[in-house]
Amino acid sequence: MNTVRVRFAPSPTGGLHIGGVRTALYNYLFAKKHNGTFIIRTEDTDQTRFVKGAESYIFDALKWLGITADESSEIGGKHAPYRQSERKKMYKQYAEELVEKDFAYYAFDTSEELEEMRKRLEQAKSKNPSYNAITRSTMRNSLTLPEDEVKTLLENGTPYVIRLKMPRKDEIRFQDIIRGWVNVHTATLDDKVIMKSDGMPTYHLANVVDDHLMEISHVIRGEEWLPSAPIHVFLYQCFGWEMPQFAHLPLLLNPDGQGKLSKRKAAEYGFPVFPLDWFEQETSNIIQGFKEAGYLPEAVNNFLALLGWNAGDHQEIFSMEELIEKFSLERVGKAGIKFDINKAKWFNQHYLRQKSDKTLVDYLKNGLKTQNLGENLSDEQAIIICQMMKDRATFPDDFWKEAIYLFKTPDAYNEQAMAKNWNEESKNFVKSYLDFLKNYTGEWHHEPLKHDLHTLVEQSGLKMGKVMPAVRLGLSGVSAGPDLAMIMQIIGKEESIKRLESIILV
Ligand code: GLU
Repeated sequence: MNTVRVRFAPSPTGGLHIGGVRTALYNYLFAKKHNGTFIIRTEDTDQTRFVKGAESYIFDALKWLGITADESSEIGGKHAPYRQSERKKMYKQYAEELVEKDFAYYAFDTSEELEEMRKRLEQAKSKNPSYNAITRSTMRNSLTLPEDEVKTLLENGTPYVIRLKMPRKDEIRFQDIIRGWVNVHTATLDDKVIMKSDGMPTYHLANVVDDHLMEISHVIRGEEWLPSAPIHVFLYQCFGWEMPQFAHLPLLLNPDGQGKLSKRKAAEYGFPVFPLDWFEQETSNIIQGFKEAGYLPEAVNNFLALLGWNAGDHQEIFSMEELIEKFSLERVGKAGIKFDINKAKWFNQHYLRQKSDKTLVDYLKNGLKTQNLGENLSDEQAIIICQMMKDRATFPDDFWKEAIYLFKTPDAYNEQAMAKNWNEESKNFVKSYLDFLKNYTGEWHHEPLKHDLHTLVEQSGLKMGKVMPAVRLGLSGVSAGPDLAMIMQIIGKEESIKRLESIILV
């Protein structure tokens, strides 16, 4: 394979959607696998949609995930600048080259004239109501107006756009690595504007010119860009440039399989769609990101890598190095993929369990600090707690959130659990257990405590499942959690007795 140069080309129009992150990741993996170059190009030609802070957000998000660029507006590179707004002057000559070659033309139509055309086509129930190979002949452009009039209009500074002259009857064919051959008839395409009246190129022109100038070998992007690909292919043909290879990635779908994964649906289901917290200007809301929700970067990468790419065997856990080694576009499928947040949680759990004791202790201690709790917690104690909570934690915060009762006497009992488990029988058992604890002289350690508790239950003739939840409620306020005897060991004798005394008053 020739030198691989790929690009992630986001438009800074808002928070970077997680689908965009996957596109960046696939580009990155592909580049690294082939010892190639991964470029981030900022496509900000549409100034009306530009959102302040969006570009730096993209960089921050990708850095968090370790998806680092070899060339970008941030670090520069041999084809700088990498921000299209700063390359503005470069595009005009290419648009004009196409006019000269008769692949494009000047169009002087005013917005009223365009509106009139739209109405006319609507009334005529046109199948392709657009500015195209047929309708262009009825409009005011350099193909219909006399040459000297065009010249005068241009000299007088009359506003114009440059449109691509799509052939009326032709077929555009190209091979997509993921989709195979794609054929599109030009009759279904319109005469796209490639240069706007303010001198700014549109997406199509800027994208193709930059891919060419930046020597992009593979265009790897989301399926939503597939309809644009024939226009791009046509542009390459018009310029006589060698084309990059295309790979259009499958869509990420909502969990119910209905439509493209949306911010709205994600909010409904309660999971993030942005990598980092995103401040939404329109609503002044902060939309929580994967990072702030407690996802680890390695889990997000692993999860995203498998949303579209089929590793080929049963392996699911991949480090970034392994992904780089094994990734291939040939194993990316065409079908849209339902977004399953439980899978992301599963990966998070996995990577959380790989963390060192020190990291887990930091999660616990930092979290407790935010609650003004656990000042006297020793490292030894903290390690015991982390080990105990490890199997129950999905997110770093779970180490303290799910174990908060180890540091604070519960101020309420879970109502449902009380309704289910708190009755005369369980209350009597707790009373007798309390008497036992008050007279307990053995070592305050989970092993003997557990043994004695079990013996007492057996002697009472009651079922474990009937009375244990009641003891647990008294100690923790909730009905599920780690080993009861461990909880008692950690909170100590005095506190255990105090808590059980409180619940029997209920
Ligand atoms: N600027 C486009 C976007 O926002 C780039 C599409 C492409 O990769 O060509 O995704």
